[in-house]
Amino acid sequence: MLTLDKFYIDGAWVDPASDTTMPIMNPATASQIGTVTLGNATDVDHAVAAAKRAFETFSMTSREERLALLHKLRDATKARLGYLAEAMTSEMGAPATMSLEVQADAGLGHLDYFIKALESLEEEEVLPNGDIVTREPIGVCGLITPWNWPINQIALKVVPALATGATCILKPSEHTPISAQIYAEIVEAAGYPAGVFNLVQGDGPTVGAAMSRHPDIAMMSFTGSTRAGTAVSKDAADDIKRVTLELGGKSPNLVFADADLPKRIPESVQGCFYNTGQSCNAPTRLLVERSCYDDVLTLAKAAAEAQEVGDPTLPGDHIGPLFDKIQYDRVQTMIQVGLDEGAKVLVGGLGKPEGLEDGYYVKPTIFYDVDSTMRIYREEIFGPVLVITPFDTEEEAVAMANDTDYGLAAYVQSGDEARVSRVVRRLRAGTIQINGRGPDYGSPFGGYKQSGNGREGGSFGLEDYLEIKVRPPFAL
Ligand code: NAD
Repeated sequence: MLTLDKFYIDGAWVDPASDTTMPIMNPATASQIGTVTLGNATDVDHAVAAAKRAFETFSMTSREERLALLHKLRDATKARLGYLAEAMTSEMGAPATMSLEVQADAGLGHLDYFIKALESLEEEEVLPNGDIVTREPIGVCGLITPWNWPINQIALKVVPALATGATCILKPSEHTPISAQIYAEIVEAAGYPAGVFNLVQGDGPTVGAAMSRHPDIAMMSFTGSTRAGTAVSKDAADDIKRVTLELGGKSPNLVFADADLPKRIPESVQGCFYNTGQSCNAPTRLLVERSCYDDVLTLAKAAAEAQEVGDPTLPGDHIGPLFDKIQYDRVQTMIQVGLDEGAKVLVGGLGKPEGLEDGYYVKPTIFYDVDSTMRIYREEIFGPVLVITPFDTEEEAVAMANDTDYGLAAYVQSGDEARVSRVVRRLRAGTIQINGRGPDYGSPFGGYKQSGNGREGGSFGLEDYLEIKVRPPFAL
């Protein structure tokens, strides 16, 4: 049984001020695998004081010094990818192959492009009017991350803070503390000065809120639910902190009859089920041109039936369990809502798949003939649940795609390049995927509308951590 009872503050593993603990659960077996201490406002005060002290000197480092540290961070991350992957498999159920090749690898993928972005960052720029602009680190940053892509989200926040010369306090999800602790060990191994990076484990209403309200934190970067993002924004409003938010989604996937359906439909279904449907940008609303609707239903049913669900410790491309009981209950409730709303079940439904009764496994589920008034069409379910709805015209498809409070991602499947350009231009979403291809590491990730603000990754991801200062050239 693992005991996580130290926080990384001011360059040392220290005893928390709080003695509140929480069990760490393995979702595949529904059994306890450890205990984590949840911090309190005093722990946040200690971490912020350390980060504030460290900012004095770290903010004055040169780009070359910070690049050298980022390369050490890369070596330290690479050396521990296997540990990160194992941790995520046991704490949130990411299947072994995907946990290593995608979830853990994101720690390197994002880092590589932040290094490139820092190399080409214009730290000083002369304007056409002769004035000089400098880009400087914003200050102490509070970073709050979710459990569904633990290392991906940590890297998207911690690395740009360290790259720009900011200092930070990371509060990872209380449900995925193990991978976060390993990440803190990685930063320690890279040799960052004391106080530059600090880890405080804990829950949102206690540690997260104490960070959002802390007067010495200059910026909050938050990824998680819209509900908690709203709370962070309100808490941060009193002292005008910069707040960047990466929130939820209900992303449309537009399928036109001229698409390569036998290829694109299985891919679309797998895309929705990937990470057991627990991705903010999952293509969860399949909007289908009516002339190919029946063919798409046949292909989607076959793809869902072929989707294997199983033990996340095994290699392979199966999906694992949902991350915990709360999420299992939420997904079951939403499937029941779909049934009550009169949506038709193409495959799946309530309950656990046969032979997987111990963990929080769910049946990959597809509803069809879903209409836009239904909750399953409008609300983020965060499980392997796809809804399918027909449309008649391109105009209608775009209107349906945009008829959502969210705007994180949108997907288009079509063989007609002119149509794709027309449609993409009108979609109100931050990330577009076309015929199975999405943006790569280094591209900006973030949403329109209630999916948040700010962009993470690459050079756009550095911007959020920078302040702009302007001055005239020296003259007597
Ligand atoms: P959550 O909002 O419950 O928790 C996210 C983080 O916020 C956790 O660290 C939690 O402790 C903290 N938190 C909770 N309440 C808080 C409060 N009042 N103040 C400060 N912090 C608080 O979300 P979750 O269940 O961990 O993650 C799932 C959600 O995250 C989904 O809605 C998903 O779409 C979203 N998500 C978005 C992105 C993106 O980039 N847009 C990426 C991953 C996940």
